[in-house]
Amino acid sequence: MNSATTTAELAIEVSQVSTRFGEHVVHAGIDLEVRRSEIFAVIGGSGSGKSTLLREMILLQRPNEGTIRVLGADLNALSDPEALALRRRWGVMFQHGGLFGSLTVLENIGLPLREHTTLGDALIDDIAAWKLAMTGLKPEVAAQYPAELSGGMMKRASLARALALDPELLFLDEPTAGLDPDSAGGVDELVRELRDLFGLTIVMITHDLDLLWGVADRVAVLADGKVQGIGSMSGLAQSDQPDVRKFFDGPRGRAAQQQGLGAPSEPSHGRPPTGASSSKPK
Ligand code: ADP
Ligand code: MG
Repeated sequence: MNSATTTAELAIEVSQVSTRFGEHVVHAGIDLEVRRSEIFAVIGGSGSGKSTLLREMILLQRPNEGTIRVLGADLNALSDPEALALRRRWGVMFQHGGLFGSLTVLENIGLPLREHTTLGDALIDDIAAWKLAMTGLKPEVAAQYPAELSGGMMKRASLARALALDPELLFLDEPTAGLDPDSAGGVDELVRELRDLFGLTIVMITHDLDLLWGVADRVAVLADGKVQGIGSMSGLAQSDQPDVRKFFDGPRGRAAQQQGLGAPSEPSHGRPPTGASSSKPK
């Protein structure tokens, strides 16, 4: 651990996590820390274990070995009531939205409030309408069904639902995947605003280089079951670790890097820029 970072400043601590499916080793000793109020991204090739790690952070799956602490709580040592209480403190936006097709958008957004609170229907609808507006959706979307929404609207509705319980921690699996560049750009801004306005800690999985350069404070690169590099994008860009280089070399990587450098993404909340380190000494 960085000696300047105390446990209270950490939202998530993953330590020596190993995960296997039968013979298949997905994680072979993952260590990483997410600081409070940072936008932390996990990148890595398809099948590198990003979604599995996210599922482990939100109590949907257990690693074979290692510990994960979320908001100070050891996920291996939770009673059922403690797990329930912890689940209320985070929101999750799944890759494919995860909205229920038989419910309207407003009903979908209100669902966590119905499950976790004793608030009345009218108040739940009011809160849900407010979350809908927060994610930039028009009021008339409230009465629509998920099948009627565009990809970008679906992501926003799913984000609104993730925000229903005013979480401290937000998990996003591929928030811009499948969106056209305009809609993806809107999601970038929304993610940054949520952190800046509410101090949310955000953990996202993404391949989107614009999102990584424009929004992520720190990024962890997963490959071969380990974290191969962790740090700011500009720090990682200096790495010579081959699994890290893959994200920077090639035309797409270079174009995004140019854009990222051309439009500096100085965080507006006054935290100092974070340094980078890779598993390989420079
Ligand atoms: P990523 O999100 O990085 O693409 P995943 O975490 O979804 O990767 O999956 C990592 C590996 O674990 C893949 O090879 C996948 O097939 C395997 N895997 C994930 N979940 C299961 C499961 N429930 N049973 C068996 N294998 C799984
Ligand atoms: Mg995945």
